[in-house]
Amino acid sequence: MLIFNKKSDLSAFLSPLIKQNKSIGFVPTMGALHQGHLSLLKNSLYENDVTVMSIFVNPTQFNNAEDLDKYPRTLERDVQIMQDLNNNIIVYAPEVADIYEGNTISENFDYDGLENQMEGKHRPGHFDGVGTIVKRLFEIVQPNKAYFGEKDFQQLQIVKKLVLKHNIPVEVIGCPIQREANGLAMSSRNERLSESAREKAAIIYQILNLAKEIFQTNSAEETIKFVEKEFKKHLEFELEYFEIADEATLLPVSEKESNKKYRGFIAIFIENIRLIDNISLN
Ligand code: AMP
Repeated sequence: MLIFNKKSDLSAFLSPLIKQNKSIGFVPTMGALHQGHLSLLKNSLYENDVTVMSIFVNPTQFNNAEDLDKYPRTLERDVQIMQDLNNNIIVYAPEVADIYEGNTISENFDYDGLENQMEGKHRPGHFDGVGTIVKRLFEIVQPNKAYFGEKDFQQLQIVKKLVLKHNIPVEVIGCPIQREANGLAMSSRNERLSESAREKAAIIYQILNLAKEIFQTNSAEETIKFVEKEFKKHLEFELEYFEIADEATLLPVSEKESNKKYRGFIAIFIENIRLIDNISLN
């Protein structure tokens, strides 16, 4: 398996392939790989001649220094996992300097308001960091298709907006959320949970499913109240937000409309670890 640490080496390798019109699929990640990442990789391997995966813990998208510091970094294990999946995957695992060249700051992005909701509201600067890294990686890899998980649904919508507004010729493909057997959405941050918290966290998806049921016959406001009340019963959790939003605009729903698609979005702390999840409500 080929592993590149420098963008110049990766570009030199990819450019003849691009000239030969080979289709390039790209899966950007921050590593600590799990089945969620592998599901994106499998889609890319199936749909493209060449698959590139990046592993880079991007400092500019972290608004919390401790979260960045404690983010799991398991490159050796990640490489082994990819090798076991498919030896032809091209890995790009740069150092911060290769991406930021001594200037580790974000550019500013306007995503037509998508950035002002939920994760954007609670993690100031997060989506500027995401836009900065995704745009740079797209420039380096020049993929035809790029794969993102619905686990980070707001990020997926933001990346779609980014390519549209910046005329970047990449098809952005959303892939369904992969879950543990108990329903917990897979996440690299789950590795930081104790075994008991990982079990307790199953309740997040259970409550999301109950919220879905309740939303069928009740208003958004009533559904949100239900979720807030449920988590008050479980003292080990601290709910940051549960919101119901229009999938396209990510604006909170006031009046339900039959032609719109809605999703419930949650951010919640357990053992000081912040987890996010979401569920389609119709
Ligand atoms: P991350 O390494 O957490 O930045 O994630 C890299 C990509 O994997 C992003 O597009 C995520 O949305 C996606 N991803 C992370 N967890 C999951 C999951 N449980 N199911 C599907 N995709 C996921």
